[in-house]
Amino acid sequence: METTNIICITCPKGCTLEVTHEGDTVVKVKPGCKRGHEYVQRELVDPRRMIATTVKIKGGIHPLLPVYTSAPFPKGRIRDLVLALRTVEVEAPVSVDAVVLSNVLDTGIDILASRDMEVK
Ligand code: SF4
Repeated sequence: METTNIICITCPKGCTLEVTHEGDTVVKVKPGCKRGHEYVQRELVDPRRMIATTVKIKGGIHPLLPVYTSAPFPKGRIRDLVLALRTVEVEAPVSVDAVVLSNVLDTGIDILASRDMEVK
């Protein structure tokens, strides 16, 4: 049995939750609400994060295009994601929410444009 403090990032309150668990089985969480308890369970079994970053863009009004993941991305594979996105270069124009890269690293998650990018 182990006790770990986990900061819940589900809402802006950002509660620090004291989690008693055996491996990835939660035994007790205090304090926190139902959503916080669900977050803790997910965090122990399959931690994920929404990722926002940039990729290169050719011919745009800026050299980099802000992008984000279409769903929370597996935390343990973020480094691989960053390396994969370093090799991506899209061409302007791009519309907000356009798919820049689909099914990245076979996760079923797409990389989407965070904004429009007009031609220079
Ligand atoms: S435990 Fe509940 S109130 Fe606290 S940050 Fe998480 S979702 Fe928000």
